[in-house]
Amino acid sequence: MQRIDATDSGYWLLTRGSTLHLNAGKLPFGTAHSLQLSGLQGMIIGEWENRPLWLVAEQPNDTHDYFSLRDLLYLPEQQFHLLSRGVEINHFLNTHRFCGQCGAETAQTQDELAVQCVRCGARSYPVINPSIIVAVRRGTKILLANHKRHYQPHGGMYTTLAGFVEPGESFEQAVRREVFEESRIQIKNIRYFGSQPWAFPNSQMAGFLADYESGEIQPQASEIHDAQWFSYNQPLPELPPTGTIARKLISTTLELCRAEDNQKEA
Ligand SMILES: [Zn+2]
Repeated sequence: MQRIDATDSGYWLLTRGSTLHLNAGKLPFGTAHSLQLSGLQGMIIGEWENRPLWLVAEQPNDTHDYFSLRDLLYLPEQQFHLLSRGVEINHFLNTHRFCGQCGAETAQTQDELAVQCVRCGARSYPVINPSIIVAVRRGTKILLANHKRHYQPHGGMYTTLAGFVEPGESFEQAVRREVFEESRIQIKNIRYFGSQPWAFPNSQMAGFLADYESGEIQPQASEIHDAQWFSYNQPLPELPPTGTIARKLISTTLELCRAEDNQKEA
């Protein structure tokens, strides 16, 4: 981060947790002077509509209006990712003000995105937590779960299974383990699908498609309220919002279900 000059201009990203400041639904644009940001700490993290996008260091007692990054999933992927970058860098800097090794203060390095301990010199880099998310298909049906955090008395959202990768584990192992832990289902034919930074606050979701192999659903009591096989051609429960990798995995799997059904009829 550097000191923001009055004449610095572009778009400005103020973030707090996984929320960001919007003015009438848009990022503020203009000079630092006009937006009263001169003298604060900031850094350019990319380009927004062909102008520099500045991340401004979080200020205590800031009275701006903040909105969840989730509300911006409708944005083009590149823009959503850039905002995620700002949220994650802000989270990293806020949680690495002191050295994890000796407890002294850290300072941001100039040559790369990192912080360095002023006493022992240990460097820390932005933390990104890998997690997996997987859509499981059984013929013309998809496995969807209502997680406890999504449960509502009259329904609630059903989505794919997901979880953090553990130390010493491949993505594929994590996919198998999470599906088995959460549903007692064994899967096969695991294929990489795509990924999504998920700045809540600092995950990176690796998405996979998989096929059912064996077992009957037994939802993991601590995390899953309900899990079921849903036919592609029956009414579906509430699904995750458009723009999430979960929704893309579900849409793709429903298409595979449809294709399988068409093949049977042919
Ligand atoms: Zn240190």
